[in-house]
Amino acid sequence: MALDVESLLVVNAANLFVMAATLPLIMGHQLSKAAASARNSLLVQALGVLAIVVSGLWSSQWANHLTSALAVALLALGHWQMFCALEGWLGPRRGGLLLKSTIVLAPLGYLLLSQSFPNRTAWANLMMILQMLLLAQATLWPATRLGGRWRWVIFGCSVAMALFTGARTVLGVFFSDQYTNFLAPHPVNVVSMLAANVALVLAAVATLVAWREEAEAQLRDQAYTDALTDLANRHGWSERAPVLFDQARRHSHPLALIMLDLDHFKRINDTQGHETGDQVLQRVSQVLRENRRTSDLAARLGGEEFAVLLPQTSQEAALLFEQRLRQALYSAGQSQPLLAVDYSAGLAMLAPFDGNITALMARADSALYQAKALGRGRLEIAP
Ligand code: GH3
Ligand code: MG
Ligand code: MG
Repeated sequence: MALDVESLLVVNAANLFVMAATLPLIMGHQLSKAAASARNSLLVQALGVLAIVVSGLWSSQWANHLTSALAVALLALGHWQMFCALEGWLGPRRGGLLLKSTIVLAPLGYLLLSQSFPNRTAWANLMMILQMLLLAQATLWPATRLGGRWRWVIFGCSVAMALFTGARTVLGVFFSDQYTNFLAPHPVNVVSMLAANVALVLAAVATLVAWREEAEAQLRDQAYTDALTDLANRHGWSERAPVLFDQARRHSHPLALIMLDLDHFKRINDTQGHETGDQVLQRVSQVLRENRRTSDLAARLGGEEFAVLLPQTSQEAALLFEQRLRQALYSAGQSQPLLAVDYSAGLAMLAPFDGNITALMARADSALYQAKALGRGRLEIAP
């Protein structure tokens, strides 16, 4: 059985095009930014491989070099797009700028060295190896919530392609009599083309799995988030508050819980309408978000009831936080009197006899009830 490099290259290009066209169909119209980058990566790489095929068709040497340089640039752009997809799925990664710069450096160096086949091949391949290694390390760290095994597939494909490209570089530089051009029928070249096809299929599968994992994470977020205010809802609270509670207990750190209930909120709804009521809830949530630390958990537990859990916070600090909150809400009410609102609050500090978060919440709740009974618009501290 004879496998020639040119046929494998055409198959590679065909595969890339078909996948770039099919992936969006499978994934639907509303692609996330990361998924769109992954699709663009396939499309641009397909164009790159096409450019390699076309470059062999010119009779003019300059046309050949220019098309090859274009191919080198397109492949670099494709790898950069894959890097963007990884960043979208895994969060900020290192080495992005370096990878991006190869989109210009790779074709530029290729053109400058175009008079010598070993030199231009070595340059283009070294750039390719650099891109592959940057992609491989981008799958590794830092770890994020999207940490599925698909990352290892992209890692493996990138490392394998770096190794094969390395082997081709050695051929081109030290055995240039056997490797006279990109399509030379050397076994290393054939195997490397086969590997490129396999890597492509695996990378496409990994992309689909990553996208599914992303969609699942989005659904999970939605289930834990209150649609009106974007704060955690009761589900989100139940998921995260016990964790913060346990951490504080284990390390004997102070933990403050403030429960809030808007005062006479029903009146706002009755006199100004439900929509204004919603805007008030959004305003309160915004003020909460702006004044908490990122480590604090703020949630809308229902109706016009909110809770804020403040880890590593003393009673004095919690009281200062609450004063800031009330002041900010007051100022907001001054600038937009229609949305003016006040609240009653109960503060409970974690005590040795609080067996779980529910016990702490019950104490904050009675303090809140006390605040209502004592005339509203105030904070009471649970004994
Ligand atoms: P109090 O000072 O005793 O807390 O009085 P209140 O009027 O704030 O309390 P009450 O529990 O009587 O009323 C709460 C109101 O909150 C009733 C309900 O219609 C309204 N509400 C609950 N959820 C929403 C919502 O999502 N949007 C709007 N606009 N109103 C809501
Ligand atoms: Mg209420
Ligand atoms: Mg109320």
